[in-house]
Amino acid sequence: MTTKERGDESLIIVMSKEAEAGDVEHVVERLRDIGAEAHISEGRFRTVIGALGDRAVIQQLPWEAFPGVERAVPVLKPFKFVSRDFQEDDSVVDVGGVLVGGGHFAPIAGPCAVESREQLFASAAAVAKAGAKILRGDAFKPRTSPYSFQGLEEKGLELLTEARDEFGLPFVAEAVDPRDVELVASYADILRVGTRNMANFTLLSELGKQSKPVMLKRGLTATIEEWLNAAEYIYKEGNHDIIMCERGIRTFETATRNTLDISAVPVIKGLSHLPIIVDPSHSGGRKELVAPLTRVAVAAGADGFMVDVHPAPETALVDGAQAILPDEFAEIMNDVRDLCAVMGLEL
Ligand code: PEP
Ligand code: MN
Repeated sequence: MTTKERGDESLIIVMSKEAEAGDVEHVVERLRDIGAEAHISEGRFRTVIGALGDRAVIQQLPWEAFPGVERAVPVLKPFKFVSRDFQEDDSVVDVGGVLVGGGHFAPIAGPCAVESREQLFASAAAVAKAGAKILRGDAFKPRTSPYSFQGLEEKGLELLTEARDEFGLPFVAEAVDPRDVELVASYADILRVGTRNMANFTLLSELGKQSKPVMLKRGLTATIEEWLNAAEYIYKEGNHDIIMCERGIRTFETATRNTLDISAVPVIKGLSHLPIIVDPSHSGGRKELVAPLTRVAVAAGADGFMVDVHPAPETALVDGAQAILPDEFAEIMNDVRDLCAVMGLEL
């Protein structure tokens, strides 16, 4: 019987400030004895244990009578471990040595897709010089039309690896198919889930088993709760290094490619401890919108942003209309520096 069939209960067991390591172990052992999962979150002041298992069994034990336990509260939200209730402090995700979240801000830039060595290197050199911390570039492209360019696949990952070594930037690349996860993870510093795959639970569970961090884009029509549930799929498998990425949602508006839901930034920060970044390129879908949408992302409290930068957007095989030129990226970075100073973010 799976936990789902039994009727899940999840409890947050908050240890007191004075609790000792042995007290935590005792609770965890009891949980495991009764067949429940125990996830530990060590905060600055206290440890919290997230318990997940059969409702009838979990409720039977008097958790608050255990030594070192301050209180035990049921989690009513459908997502548990990614919630602020479970972890009070912001999560900080380490992407190949670059920190994201908890006051660390990360500019991410590069071409939408890797098209050639020349194109990738021109973009990577420019974004590195302008202050990007992470390189983007895809080797696998899920396209709306099956006849559009689908990416250079492994060759693209090899080129990205060369660019990382040359310019010293860790890189993010999309994993489209659960069967390609191992391959992409063997090259990339962080794996991205695209909007079209946000609810691909097989892919999410596979990513949850990897040791590389994951960037989870919001589904085109996903609510914030559905999006956090998708993150929970990854977290629950053991991978806790997740960065949320707001990339615009589908609305009735046609003037922009998607509608940037800027309120998702503070809403996610309230509900979850995970970092959240914004993708102004895929939100607006037009290059002239990238600068204003980036500024608004920093001001709203995002932990980073990710933009498409192409040395010659008119020749781009993918998303040319939203790609900005290297010089335009450098200008945006000047604004970002000023805004990060105002927001007290470390760049
Ligand atoms: C991308 O970042 O290149 C991309 C395909 O984004 P999305 O999945 O948000 O459309
Ligand atoms: Mn794109």
